[in-house]
Amino acid sequence: MLSARRLIVKIGSAVVADIETGEVRGPWLETLIEDVVRFFARGQQVIIVTSGAVALGSPHFKQLDRSLRNEQKQAAAAIGQIRLMLAYEQSLKRHGFGLGQVLLTSADVDNQRCRLNARSALQQLLKVGAVPVINENDATATPEMCLGDNDRLAARVAQIAKADLLILLSDVDGLFTEDPHDNPLARIIPEVRCITPEIETMAGLSPGRYGSGGMVTKLMAARIAMDAGCNVVIAKGNKSYPLAAIENGAPSTWFIPLATRQQHAEAVEEIPVV
Ligand code: GLU
Repeated sequence: MLSARRLIVKIGSAVVADIETGEVRGPWLETLIEDVVRFFARGQQVIIVTSGAVALGSPHFKQLDRSLRNEQKQAAAAIGQIRLMLAYEQSLKRHGFGLGQVLLTSADVDNQRCRLNARSALQQLLKVGAVPVINENDATATPEMCLGDNDRLAARVAQIAKADLLILLSDVDGLFTEDPHDNPLARIIPEVRCITPEIETMAGLSPGRYGSGGMVTKLMAARIAMDAGCNVVIAKGNKSYPLAAIENGAPSTWFIPLATRQQHAEAVEEIPVV
């Protein structure tokens, strides 16, 4: 983690939002931002990809997220996104950092010109001490054009921003041999160097309640990032100081690509469209 120059930290809905109350988990967010500030202080750059907009906006529709129609989810995201950004902004401000909100769709990340524009904008934000905080532009995403989940979006951002490390913070410790909810004897896999069919089977099918992710999309994200030479770590995010916890050896699964990002950059000139 120390050797990464640029890191993408992806925050799941159930990590940043209290799903029952539809409120931001403020005290937790403070500890995450303290971790982020520490990374900047030692010369590393952090870009945040955050979910939570739908979860924070859902109470306006007085139903549970899963039962909202697509257009209600999109409207919920439009409401929740503002609350989400305000919370990040307040926290960052306390440490003298600004925030730059970037909303992307799959159409954007599949378009080379948009990717290059996004890369330049991210660079400029980092230059002026504004932490880029990215989410999908949920209100305009159509089911066909939708990235489907922020895990994949975060992996595409890792490609675009030429990051060395993608940290996926969710409500699980990492990849297990079996779903630990079903089998308490399931073991965590500490390191993956190749995503084999066996590894895919371990991921099973367990989407979260508010995000659309689960382990399957995390593996997809890991594959995209690894193909760009970016290391990936999946770890539990809803504890205080979640990044420090990973550094201090909390359970996690690391995905190590064959080639580093630098070796990859030498071999491939542009970002592949996937
Ligand atoms: N963009 C969605 C939100 O902010 C989350 C999508 C996901 O986590 O898969 O609520």
